[in-house]
Amino acid sequence: METLAGTQLVYDFADGSKDMRELLGGKGANVAEMTRVLGADRVPAGFTITTEACVAYMEAGGELPDGLEEQVAEALGRLEERAGKRLGDPDDPLLVSVRSGARESMPGMLDTVLNLGLNDESVVGLGGDRFAWDSYRRFVQMFGNVCLGIPGDRFEELIEERKREAGVSEDTELDTDDLRALTDAFKDAYDEEFPQDPREQLDKAIRAVFDSWTGARAVEYRRINRIPDDWGTAVNVQQMVFGNRGEKSCSGVAFSRDEVTGEPEPSGDFLVNAQGEDVVSGVRTPKDIAEMKELMPDAHAELMEILRTLEAHYRDMQDTEFTVEDGQLYMLQTRDAKRPAQAAVRFAVDAVEEGLLERAEAIATIDAARLDALLHPSFARNARYETLTTGLAASPGAAKGEIVFTAPDAVAAAADGRKVILVRPFTEAEDVAGFHAAEGIVTSRGGKASHAALVARGMGKPCVAGAGELEIDLNAKRVRAGDTELSEGDRIAIDGSTGVVTADDVELEEVEMSEDFKTVLAWADELRSLGVRANADTPEDASKAREFGAEGVGLCRSEHIFLGTENQQRMQDMIMAEDDDERGAALDDLLALQQEHFTGLLDAMQGLPVTIRLLDPPLHEFIPNAEQLAQEVERARIEESDDLEELEHTLDRVHVLAETNPMLGTRGVRLGVLHPEIYEMQMRAIVRAARAVLEAKGSSPLLEVMVPLVTYEHELELMRGLLERVAGEEDASTLDLSIGTMIELPRACFVADRIARQADFFSFGTNDLTQTALGFSRDDVGGMLARYLDLKIVDRNPFETMDAPGVGWLVRLAAWTGREAKPDLKLGICGEHGGDPDSIELFQKAGLDYVSCSPYRVPIARVAAAQSAIRASSSP
Ligand code: ADP
Ligand code: MG
Ligand code: MG
Repeated sequence: METLAGTQLVYDFADGSKDMRELLGGKGANVAEMTRVLGADRVPAGFTITTEACVAYMEAGGELPDGLEEQVAEALGRLEERAGKRLGDPDDPLLVSVRSGARESMPGMLDTVLNLGLNDESVVGLGGDRFAWDSYRRFVQMFGNVCLGIPGDRFEELIEERKREAGVSEDTELDTDDLRALTDAFKDAYDEEFPQDPREQLDKAIRAVFDSWTGARAVEYRRINRIPDDWGTAVNVQQMVFGNRGEKSCSGVAFSRDEVTGEPEPSGDFLVNAQGEDVVSGVRTPKDIAEMKELMPDAHAELMEILRTLEAHYRDMQDTEFTVEDGQLYMLQTRDAKRPAQAAVRFAVDAVEEGLLERAEAIATIDAARLDALLHPSFARNARYETLTTGLAASPGAAKGEIVFTAPDAVAAAADGRKVILVRPFTEAEDVAGFHAAEGIVTSRGGKASHAALVARGMGKPCVAGAGELEIDLNAKRVRAGDTELSEGDRIAIDGSTGVVTADDVELEEVEMSEDFKTVLAWADELRSLGVRANADTPEDASKAREFGAEGVGLCRSEHIFLGTENQQRMQDMIMAEDDDERGAALDDLLALQQEHFTGLLDAMQGLPVTIRLLDPPLHEFIPNAEQLAQEVERARIEESDDLEELEHTLDRVHVLAETNPMLGTRGVRLGVLHPEIYEMQMRAIVRAARAVLEAKGSSPLLEVMVPLVTYEHELELMRGLLERVAGEEDASTLDLSIGTMIELPRACFVADRIARQADFFSFGTNDLTQTALGFSRDDVGGMLARYLDLKIVDRNPFETMDAPGVGWLVRLAAWTGREAKPDLKLGICGEHGGDPDSIELFQKAGLDYVSCSPYRVPIARVAAAQSAIRASSSP
């Protein structure tokens, strides 16, 4: 273990900056930055214990690193001097918060303790009034929960009990005597003595924050969000300011723009006479920030000004936490706002128009992977429905399903294939699995910054929060809104863009692309160098793809048109044919079908490149299922059916053709080598279709005929000869035609230079390349992969995001050596990875010309390609 002797483990806020987030955590780094930008009067003073100290503490099995205690004591001394108060001073105590803060924000996952430094004596020094006792009871409560692990519910019960005895309904109505009694009751809930010594309190709180890093909640959150376990959390010790000091005090959260729509008006929630944890916990429903204007006009005006300053300084939309103490505003936190796609797009466009950002900077603020939310459905425009209630529009998009009241019920229903809406008073960390399973979420309490709203937006799930009219009875599993009562299993629909909840079966419809989204896409197109095409098998796919801005078809699977249609039988006949005559007859029929089909596709893509892949059917997808067939034979035998003989014959043939491992069997070019007449037929169909389109419309697409699954250069040489011969016979001289290959086997990557001599283009088939390079079967890997992710053997599903060091390296190698042999070799990719932003970054680096993905991911790919180009040009 490395020693930290002589290392600085504690930094005053005045000495940090936003560039130090690895060491100081995001919260510490930004509090330090704000101290510089806004001035020391606006940010309570304090210091940060580094993540390095936390890592050392964990490695030492829970022992504080050497020197830490001394450095904390010194920093505390400086803080006391600045504040002119001492921790634990019975007459005028300094109180501090002890706040966790990792490199990446993990909302609500790590612990924070407020009002530390209070004890039986200093509570009197703080004033001994209602405010002092409210602060003290909060401290005893949080300390007990965070540092001693007493469940939060225990304290909530005691509060409820007290309220009943006092005959009040709100926490704020409890008077000084109630709060004093409550503090005593809290202390009685401890298994040990409450520590009166503030230094002991501080020491325990620092350890508790370190420990919260390895708590179950945080570990689970990191697993889902792929945050490394070895980062550790920083600890921020900060002088307290008090939002609970009366009617001129409040605590709140504020976004520099509307966090749901992105509109320029700042948004947020606040609670008068409260401390911050009341706002985020969702236990009390806060007021909208606009109301603060009337209640505390000066603080509100200043907050608006500060939001603008911070946004300009960080060059991004900000998400802040603040407190007003007796009319005086303090900023406690800022960070780049997580936002739904709608808000991200709106911000990018407005920021450019306002002159805040350049186009490239604006595009870089968008999380491309989330853009598909903009293609989510909404309530159909002219749908009629009766509104059950309206809550806050907390996360956009519409959804419908059966009501469930608990996360486990949501998970179970989803496993049954039922669509559900999770309805809860409010949600907590352990409900997150239910969010995954549900179509949408409704809560009766909490604001737009509540747990439910944050998590739903993070996942792109529709959410209506704070629908206060809903009376939810979790025990009876019923919810009432006015006169309507609904039970578990009843259907509701929600619109997270408007806050509407209805019990009617509303029709959902696809959204139209907003003008802002179109603007962003147009900018992305100017900035990117990678082309974006779509994988499209049918004319319908092709026109959808063009609508979304695809610049061509990167993959048309020539056999896919047959799957699940009446023509599948012809295809099957062809594959099952026992001799050339039989096959010839089937091929003649298929020629006409294919030609007709290609004509439609080519017509839809006039003037653009279209890559048609020659037949690549793993045989099991096209021949009848042997078990089923055997049963039919059995039945035919019993019924003495006339079909018996034919069925038996088919079964024999199926047995002959069956392969143990069809994905590695007679497919792709191997089929072309064994039965050249198949590719010959396809080539004829392609050329005839293109000529027909050319004659009818005066222009035809740039045809790219692609041979799949090539591993030996001679396979391609052979096929190229065949395809060129047919092109000659069909007089393709007027067409723009090129012949290339898929690169989807490791050997092909290694001998890419040899293959390139036979090819006009390569298209990386990264699905098969991932299967064959990793030796994982994509269709069987599910359960195992979950375990691999848990154990962190892999940090991503390699079928979603390219395995950069392995499979990604093969792509780069093949691109490089292929181009060495043939400098004008065109390079593309047509696997699922073509629509994944992280993978797109890799393809940019590999020097590919274009990516191709499903039509719905085309907008994402356009933005991600622009972002890759921006990064490529800004890094040396
Ligand atoms: P989280 O990471 O869960 O948001 P924080 O450390 O930000 O936790 O603390 C939560 C809330 O506690 C803050 O938003 C703020 O309202 C309150 N808080 C933290 N430190 C102070 C402080 N020094 N003075 C007043 N309130 C504080
Ligand atoms: Mg916070
Ligand atoms: Mg393939």
